[in-house]
Amino acid sequence: MTAVTLTNLRRVFADGFVAVDDLSISIVAGEFLTLLGPSGCGKSTTLRMIAGLDAPDQGSIEFDGRRMNDITPGKRNIAMVFQSYALYPHMTVRRNLEYPLRKQGVAKAERTARAQAIAELMQLGELLERKPRELSGGQQQRVALGRALIRNPDLFLFDEPLSNLDAKLRSYMRAELIQLHRRVGKTMIYVTHDQLEAMTMSDRVAIMDKGQLQQLGTPHEVYNAPANLFVASFIGAPTMNLVHGELARAGGGAVFRAGALEVAVPSLAGGTEAGAAVLGVRPEDVLVEQGDLPATVSLIEPVGHETLLSLDVLGHRVVARTDAQTRLTYGATTMVAFRPGKLHLFDGKHGHRLA
Ligand code: ATP
Repeated sequence: MTAVTLTNLRRVFADGFVAVDDLSISIVAGEFLTLLGPSGCGKSTTLRMIAGLDAPDQGSIEFDGRRMNDITPGKRNIAMVFQSYALYPHMTVRRNLEYPLRKQGVAKAERTARAQAIAELMQLGELLERKPRELSGGQQQRVALGRALIRNPDLFLFDEPLSNLDAKLRSYMRAELIQLHRRVGKTMIYVTHDQLEAMTMSDRVAIMDKGQLQQLGTPHEVYNAPANLFVASFIGAPTMNLVHGELARAGGGAVFRAGALEVAVPSLAGGTEAGAAVLGVRPEDVLVEQGDLPATVSLIEPVGHETLLSLDVLGHRVVARTDAQTRLTYGATTMVAFRPGKLHLFDGKHGHRLA
């Protein structure tokens, strides 16, 4: 198992574009860490620097405290899995699995034994004599994973490995990857723009935007205490309701006001300046048919197990998750409350979390 330490990494492309900016992350040995962010945020560039396929302009990459910046990719003992499986179409599954060992000059008997062991681990035993075209997408991806595993790498790097698969297969492969991580216990660094993958598979998630780290934390932490407005609106579907307004000090706590909407924020830490602020409430924390905030239903979206209601709450659009049996209809008026203890407050100018 390998601990990976990225310190002040910076990558500037020839045109002056800063793809990765002062990125520092310590990845614990054996951890499943996901780099998550929108397209172009620099996550693939970061992964390529860890692999040695791209070189940082500043900063260091260490594996178990050993500087890697000048070590060639072949000497880093890394396996990288991409979204395209790149299996050799003319080779059987067995020969595809054995290929990395063949290249290393491993003797036939050992190749056969290791391919057999990997086939069992990846549940490919029945498929060993098939060609890639005779496999489903998920089976092909399992062969690609097996081929990465067979070299017994210290570190796994995944770059959107599931994005070519349909929704059902993606959910199946997510479970496979979680189990694989449990079984082999190796450090895995996974790049995706899909929050569901990040939240379900990772020990910790590093959320990036515009080349910079926005927050590093467990899925629970980034969901329940987003560090800033970017993370708040990136994590969660439907997204967090955000209302722009003003914060005023009141007694020991504070009051948030946006037009006629007034919400007490008792949890606000002392020392926070009054001024422009953004109130955040997750749709599951908007409680419908209770409380004292008048609301009008403007949209009803049934999604099967629940119904999403768009509400006008004192002039602000607020989405609420409610149970599928809701009796509310378009244009109905009701009362809502924001679940106490579940309010998020952000600085209106810089977007960082206040409470
Ligand atoms: P995606 O999910 O779309 O792959 P990403 O977060 O992985 O996005 P990167 O591939 O790391 O993003 O790219 C980060 C930024 O750097 C992008 O804006 C991209 O256009 C830019 N970029 C990447 N490679 C180069 C290059 N060789 N020269 C100039 N700019 C580049």
